[in-house]
Amino acid sequence: LAGREIKSANSVIECNGVQVGGEALALIAGPCSVESHDQLIATATSVKHAGANMLRGGAYKPRTSPYSFQGMEEEGLKLLKEAREATHLPIVTEVMNPSDVQLVARYADVLQVGARNVQNFSLLKELGKVDKPVLLKRGMMTTIKEFLMSAEYILSEGNKNVILCERGIRTFETATRNTLDISCVPVLKRETHLPIIIDPSHATGHWDLVEPMARAAVAAGADGLMIEVHPDPVNAFSDGPQSLKPSKFIRLVENIRPFAKLM
Ligand code: PEP
Ligand code: MN
Repeated sequence: LAGREIKSANSVIECNGVQVGGEALALIAGPCSVESHDQLIATATSVKHAGANMLRGGAYKPRTSPYSFQGMEEEGLKLLKEAREATHLPIVTEVMNPSDVQLVARYADVLQVGARNVQNFSLLKELGKVDKPVLLKRGMMTTIKEFLMSAEYILSEGNKNVILCERGIRTFETATRNTLDISCVPVLKRETHLPIIIDPSHATGHWDLVEPMARAAVAAGADGLMIEVHPDPVNAFSDGPQSLKPSKFIRLVENIRPFAKLM
């Protein structure tokens, strides 16, 4: 169902008023984790002013260590809802557990599947039954074929609203957190009608590499960007080193404006 041969026209995914896969670039920004009311509202307001059209923020966090901050869970979802009311930005947030899908779907506009869950088939099947779009992240060891098969799990259960997201794959290189597979954009454009966005934050792991890779993503034909922004990256509960300060995010948007069609 994801294949170009099944549907030749690009799919445009409607996300509570924002289209992903249409003419304009989707610009999803926000903190890695929802940490507090003030942190989230400050970030949401600043990314909105910079030109973002959706807000991201994790309430359920897939952390490598069980001793790291695990997320605010439903309290975080409530804060995301408040941030949507304050900014009118649709909300993108991760769901990790199949049993949380209905709960997260009550708050979120777009449900995110994290890289680590790209082959959590029971989660994918559950998301196939939801009437909200799914942002499916590529795993760090997932081939493009496997990635598309994961999308197929969602589509085949009836949910046709899938957005693909490349966030870097694991290679021998250690200078960056992951290696951004920019070539997956034209490959996926050939293979599928589903939109593909790029997350240069998780792909690089370093805030100063985010903007050049965002520009590369736009040049390669990506349908959107997902970027981590934090008002105080040094004190972020997660992913501070790759988070942009609001002023740096404003600059990124200004620097892609000449060659991207923004909403
Ligand atoms: C995230 O977007 O916050 C996240 C955990 O990303 P990934 O699943 O790509 O590591
Ligand atoms: Mn993160």
